[in-house]
Parts: sequence; C-alpha cells; structure tokens
Amino acid sequence: MALVVQKYGGSSVADADKIKNVARQAVAAREEGNHVVVVVSAMGKTTNNLITLANQVTDSPDERELDVLLSTGELISSTLLAMALRTLGVEAISLSGAQAGIRTDSVYSRARILGVDPNRIKKELEKDRVVIVAGFQGITEEMDITTLGRGGSDTTAVALAVSLGADRCEIYTDVEGVYTADPRLVPEARKIEDIGYDEMLELASSGAKVMHSRAVELGEVYKMPILVASSFTDEPGTLIHGGASVEIANKVRGIAHDLNVAKVTVVGVPDKPGVASAIFEPLAKANISVDTIVQNASINKITDLTFTVAKSDSAKAMKVIEPVVKSIGARECVSDTKLAKVSVIGAGMQTAPGYAARMFSALYEAGINIELITTSEIRITCIIDEAKTEDALRTLHKAFELEKGL
Ligand code: ASP
Ligand code: MG
Repeated sequence: MALVVQKYGGSSVADADKIKNVARQAVAAREEGNHVVVVVSAMGKTTNNLITLANQVTDSPDERELDVLLSTGELISSTLLAMALRTLGVEAISLSGAQAGIRTDSVYSRARILGVDPNRIKKELEKDRVVIVAGFQGITEEMDITTLGRGGSDTTAVALAVSLGADRCEIYTDVEGVYTADPRLVPEARKIEDIGYDEMLELASSGAKVMHSRAVELGEVYKMPILVASSFTDEPGTLIHGGASVEIANKVRGIAHDLNVAKVTVVGVPDKPGVASAIFEPLAKANISVDTIVQNASINKITDLTFTVAKSDSAKAMKVIEPVVKSIGARECVSDTKLAKVSVIGAGMQTAPGYAARMFSALYEAGINIELITTSEIRITCIIDEAKTEDALRTLHKAFELEKGL
C-alpha cells in the first residue's frame, strides 16, 4: 500500500467547513488505496493571534512558554480534523508533534528536527487509521515542547514523509502551485508544472512564500517528491523533484521578491585585518542573520562595508554595531529600511551567459536604480527601492518572457 503525507496550511483549515473539506480530501486519498498521514497548520490567523496575546501579557514572553502556547494552535486543528474524519466513518487519530516522535534541538521558536521516531505513527497506520499530526512542533530530549519557526508545518510534513518512507509529500495551500512570480503583483504570472529542488530552494529563500525553505532542503537531501497544490481546486499543482530538465529554452524559471530587507552601511572602515570579524562576530552572537555582504575596494586604506538583514532585525543590528564602529575607528553607521530584493532564478542560467546584463538593462530601462547586487550559480539578486518592487517584477517578467512558458 502506498503512503501519502498531506499537509494543509492555515487557510485550508481556517473554519469548520474548510476542516470538513480537508477531511473529505483525506478520505479520497485513502479511497485511492493509500495510507494517509495528514499534517495541519493552525487555523487561519491563530498563530499570529497567540503571539499578540502573549505580547499583551508581557513585553518579553518567556521563550519556552511561548513555544508551548504556539504549539496549541496546531493541536486545535488536528483534533478537529480527527473528529471530522470520524464523522465521515473513517478511523482517525490526532497526534501532537511529541506523540508523533518528532525530536528537536532546544532552540525555542526555531528548533531543528534532530530525528523522527516513526513507531507510533506506524502502529496507527497498521490499525488502518488516518493519522493527523499537529505541524510546526516537536519535543526536546528534556521533554520540552518546541516550535520549528514560522511556516514550519511544511518541514514537519517533509520530515515525516522521509522518515515513514512515503511515496510523496503533498503540500496543500491557498494557491495553485509555484508561479513564475507573485500573481498578485504580476497578472501575467504562470503556474510552473515542475521545478528542481535547487531552483525551488532559491525561490523560497529569496522570498517566494509558497513553501518553507527548510522543507525544500529536506526534500532535496532525501529526494522526496513534493507536490504543491491548492486545497480549494482540482488543478494539478507544481511538482518539486530532482529531475527537472535544465535543457529548456527559457533558462529563467521564476522571479522572487522579498520586502523584508534592510541595509546597514558602516562608513569609513579602516582597511586592515580583523575589521570584518569585529563587525560580524557580535551580529552572530546577537543571533542576527546577515544576508548580502558587500565591501568596496579601499581608497587610502579606508573602505565602506554594507550588509543586509531582515527589516525586523535592523534596529537591533544598529544597536550591536554602534559600539563596534567606535572601537574599530570607523566613521559612522547608517541604515535604510525601505528596500526590497528581486531575484531572477533558473538552473539553466549557470551555463548561459548574458542573463545578468539582461536583468540590469531591463531595470535601467524602467528607471529602477540598483543598490546592491548578489549572485549564486542559479540566481541574480538586485536590491532596489521598496516602492519599485511591482514595477521591477513586471519589467523582469516581460524581459525574460516568462509569460510564454517553456
Ligand atoms: N502555524 C505556524 C505559522 O503560522 C506554522 C505553519 O503555519 O506552518 O507559522
Ligand atoms: Mg503556513
């Protein structure tokens, strides 16, 4: 018997009717002759509401308590789904992340899965039950509840699929799959039929919100095929797998954007060994993750050093850097939080020249200034004025003829 792991996002279980709808879909997968494990997110905005509530009680919620609090969101949806399934006459059982054997490290609010003990789930499947697992959570060695970071239910689903040896992992959400660009901003955006793990990983980590990038990473390592599709329609969705062809006419697969970007520039840095580490060590200690880093060639042994962080981290980063500016003898430190990141992604680009030039000239013709540029083998990213995001996306979508398909 094949085994399918399905994951339903918060909008797919937002109310009682939607939960009943998910129950019917799980039954349909079972009637096709599969064992079914369902992972659910919290209903609608539950997680946000719980965070708000915690912040109303205190300015600095205790991280252990906060994780237990947030984990309850997924308990609500998983138990309700199990009840809905039983009402349809199907044996079902809900399990918390801990009961499902998901073991994590003890980094609250963004714990990593260390391993999965699949025995309990396997036992329940042997009893021919549909197993519903609360997403986004696990348990430490000390038996404390942790959460996996926002959007973490995707990671729960892929981790379970891998450890149970599932045939595939299906991620159901409120969009029909992965698009060439955000269809809310680019009306011509097209759904992508299939995409390689590496391209999807770049899209997800460059701001495409359909899937948690850690889930894609896990899928890639264990070669687990992942289908992203809508829970509201029967459209086929996007398959993420290892075999996507790079020998296709259009080497660009998609464009991602991210509005959560701030830039910090340390001006007038003395160009000598040790200054970069003097700047980045304290940032690392403060748990601030730095994305793009640019250091200019120095003139007269003085240089500028620019890096980007999440907008939400920029005030904290400035606070950490200010004393460092003094100690290394730099002039000052400035930040800009009105920025966005647009990235053009495609595995085919690594063997074909000219894509960067095409991106830059398209932005130039649209009158968009590029603040910073970074690349990987399969991605070119420009950091621009936040207000120009939509313009940039439409311009690039056209420049790379993404409306045309492969
Ligand atoms: N409920 C959690 C969140 O809103 C996890 C998830 O949806 O995957 O981030
Ligand atoms: Mg989600």
